Amino acid sequence: MPATAKLQTRKPSALPAAKASKAQVCKAEAGSARRERNCSVARTLDIVSDAWAFLIIREAFFGTQTFEAFRTALGIPRATLTDRLRKLTQLAIFRQVAPGSALRKEYRLTKMGFDLYPSFIALMQFGDRWLAGGKPAPLTLVHMSCSCDSHPIVACSHCGERLTARNARYRDGPGAGRHPAKAGRNTRRASDGSRFSFGRPSSVSRALEIIGDKWSFMVVREGFFGNRRYDKILTELEIAPNILTDRLNRLVASGVFYRRQYQSSPDRYEYLLTDMGHDLYGPFITMLRWGDRWLSKGKPPLLLTHLTCGRDFHASVNCDRCKQPIVATDMRYKLTYDPKAFGALGPRSVDS
Ligand SMILES: [Zn+2]
Ligand SMILES: [Zn+2]
Repeated sequence: MPATAKLQTRKPSALPAAKASKAQVCKAEAGSARRERNCSVARTLDIVSDAWAFLIIREAFFGTQTFEAFRTALGIPRATLTDRLRKLTQLAIFRQVAPGSALRKEYRLTKMGFDLYPSFIALMQFGDRWLAGGKPAPLTLVHMSCSCDSHPIVACSHCGERLTARNARYRDGPGAGRHPAKAGRNTRRASDGSRFSFGRPSSVSRALEIIGDKWSFMVVREGFFGNRRYDKILTELEIAPNILTDRLNRLVASGVFYRRQYQSSPDRYEYLLTDMGHDLYGPFITMLRWGDRWLSKGKPPLLLTHLTCGRDFHASVNCDRCKQPIVATDMRYKLTYDPKAFGALGPRSVDS
């Protein structure tokens, strides 16, 4: 992890960072070539942080396949649904099939689409742990292989131990570097998490309300890179100060960061990940795995080493009971809500 290594050997001084940041800020405000880290998590989030795309994929995991069923479950306008299904098919997350009659087309998840399941589960576990507001989680997972209620963990693919940010290290991979930032959603100034909350209650939606906004995600990611200080984050992300202030305030309010003063006159603060913030590590590296596998053309930007076993690893989402990696087809659900109240399908083969 280059940034942390730097932090360990060199104490960043506030002043030069602030100077550099002014130039960067002008650049950001002028909308000229801002450059972003190559990042497999960002590539994954680019897809699932489109709220409609995310909701459609989520319904597909519940077994929804037809245009009308997606429409009923999400109350989504026809034109929007047509557009998103077309895009998700182009991205090869869905494939279109016409079983029996060509008139009744269905959308099925591809292997690449199904492989998003562990990322959804990792986000769901995070939402269950931190964002359920003291209420029971919307659904319980049942792992068919071991017939147990399962609370999957994000584990090392090599030794199977649970992973945390503290027991992993990063280094640049063959795809490391930067690319010109795309305009558009990346530069959205307001972050409105409520766009994820259509349809059924969902811990994944709650998690995306916090990190599904591109800037919020990137600020949290800097936390994992060890960049704690406002000026340093500003320089690294080439972000406009008002957006950074807004996102840091939101992330403090939602409990992802806490603020600590490290200097007075002038007062300066750093932003540290809370336990809840640290717990985003699992979802992050699970999405990283998906992006590496499907979108990095064989060149992952980051390589991860597990300090406990000393091996390079990728994230594996495993059943906490039988320790086996979970796959969508091997899970059933018990719901704490009535899916029909949301016009949605129940879980496949409800075991009640
Ligand atoms: Zn390991
Ligand atoms: Zn199991």
